[in-house]
Amino acid sequence: MSYIFDPAPRAAVPILGSQAKFPVRRVFCVGRNYADHVREMGNDPKSEPPLFFSKPADALVESGAVIAYPSNTANLHHEVELVIAIGEGGANIDAGAALMHVWGYGVGVDLTRRDRQAEAKKAGTPWDTAKGFDHSAPISALTPAADASGVLNARIWLKVNDELRQDSSTGGMIWSVPEIIATLSRWWELKAGDLIFTGSPEGVGPIVTGDVIECGVDGLAPLRFSIG
Ligand code: MN
Repeated sequence: MSYIFDPAPRAAVPILGSQAKFPVRRVFCVGRNYADHVREMGNDPKSEPPLFFSKPADALVESGAVIAYPSNTANLHHEVELVIAIGEGGANIDAGAALMHVWGYGVGVDLTRRDRQAEAKKAGTPWDTAKGFDHSAPISALTPAADASGVLNARIWLKVNDELRQDSSTGGMIWSVPEIIATLSRWWELKAGDLIFTGSPEGVGPIVTGDVIECGVDGLAPLRFSIG
């Protein structure tokens, strides 16, 4: 078998303390998963089931990158999120067994064209242009779950040019990591290599060309990138 042109390289994320990389299959995201962020976006945190959307795997960008300001937006927003890396797939996973499917964790930013998302919400149209654009998923190196035992109740924070913009706890999720895995696996059969961005706490806001973004979840490798 041959291809008519060379296939694109597989998306992969560095692993803390290893030369090997985590090969990425799909990138799922959870919307509206911290009560204070749901309120700041004008919604009721208890009224809705988990909201899922996805980004292309090649939207991932490694820490240290300079990301060009995206086209077709005048309101690019940061959303810092805990990222789950799935190591063992499955469908209809029980929440009680969900953590056995986790290979590790990272820190990601769900970059968002907020103006396009507001239009899509109003029109009832898909979020792809708001969420799934090129370079929209900067991500830190991953930490194996065995070395990241505290991340489900850890400080999650983001600074823009050294100014703290988001400062919360992953313990504030409406839908916990096991509940996210259990529910997502009822919509898709999860596979090794899937990443899940788990939603952002309150404090999202705009970033502009020249900004330096640093963020982290305590216990994980931090993420740093700039808009150039
Ligand atoms: Mn998000």
